Amino acid sequence: MSKVIAVNAGSSSLKFQLFEMNNESVITSGVIERIGLEDSVFTIKYNGEKDVQTLPIPTHKEAVALLLDTLIKKEIVKDLNEIRGVGHRIVQGGSYFKESAVIDDYVVEKIDELKALAPLHNPAHLIGYYAFKEAIPNAGAVAVFDTAFHQTLEPRCYIYPIPYKFYEEHKIRKYGAHGTSHFYVSTRTRDLLGNPEHSKIIVAHLGAGGSLSAVKDGKCINTSMGFTPLAGIMMGTRSGDLDASVVEYLVDTLNIDMHELIHILNKESGLLGVSGISSDFRDVQKAADEGNERAKLALDIFFRRVIAYIGRYFIALGGCDAIAFTAGIGENSAYARKEILSLVSEALGIVIDDDANENGKGERLISKPESKIKVYVVPTNEELVIARDTKRLLNL
Ligand code: AMP
Repeated sequence: MSKVIAVNAGSSSLKFQLFEMNNESVITSGVIERIGLEDSVFTIKYNGEKDVQTLPIPTHKEAVALLLDTLIKKEIVKDLNEIRGVGHRIVQGGSYFKESAVIDDYVVEKIDELKALAPLHNPAHLIGYYAFKEAIPNAGAVAVFDTAFHQTLEPRCYIYPIPYKFYEEHKIRKYGAHGTSHFYVSTRTRDLLGNPEHSKIIVAHLGAGGSLSAVKDGKCINTSMGFTPLAGIMMGTRSGDLDASVVEYLVDTLNIDMHELIHILNKESGLLGVSGISSDFRDVQKAADEGNERAKLALDIFFRRVIAYIGRYFIALGGCDAIAFTAGIGENSAYARKEILSLVSEALGIVIDDDANENGKGERLISKPESKIKVYVVPTNEELVIARDTKRLLNL
């Protein structure tokens, strides 16, 4: 028996999934939220039951201790040493990591160095790493980088057309994000295509955060997020691509500082900013259905920004065998998929299978046989990638 836990430590949260790697089954999963507050919330799912507790959890150290205690109390594991590996999701690996890595002093140093590029995430990942290391010192630890899959981009795709010295001296370039999801979904899509020698796949990861990627023969050749996740398509609260002059103009006009404005672009823009209603796709859709014009406009912009990348990547790939939809909106909203596909169907020869789109469940084909491009829904599974890499790199 070899158990591996996949961990995603955020600044005030810690998500986990414990796997039995012999059959890749999820034994238990959950999340600890609002760490540092009096009313932290610990949710754990086990044996088809969900337990939710509200209690004060001051730091990640106590969060990990509570989680591990619970695993013993609920007899999910008999001994913590059954957990042989801990896989940590790391948002920013910069240009240092082209693949996952066993965490040693060098890896810690680089994750720490890269906090300049991911100030909210990388420090939290390290806190999570130390908390698990202290609690289960015998388990190995692996870092799975959200940027690694995009490291195959060529300079012509990742260099910004600004003075080159900014790249050389300050590492300003496109890094992308959601790489673990793009890797999983594009690999599954290739499987669904029958693992052809050559494949051209566009992945549309549409969730609260969203990004598209172009994957040729298993290698990512471009992706829509940039130096940070602020770039690319419109998202729940992020603007996506924007003329940088707007930043200077608003800073001057509103007399606010740059950090405030970047906060607005990250947290108060996107679907929320345009609709004025919500960052949640379902809320915006409901308002649009009820006739709210700004909600309709928000959705229109969202769809058009997605198809702009589909078009771009269709050209970049020199055609396309399959488009795969994933994440909260991509997996669950037949309406969003239909709207997006309708906008490109004439140009790309896509014929949607409405029944499969609307009534099917989970991983499936949603285009008709005569469609020039196959379209799939592929539920993402970043945790499984993290657990697999952890098992592989630790030789479990
Ligand atoms: P994620 O970040 O992947 O969890 O995705 C969150 C987004 O998915 C939110 O905007 C949700 O409104 C959206 N979402 C989740 N379920 C549905 C659904 N059934 N229909 C439409 N959107 C959904």
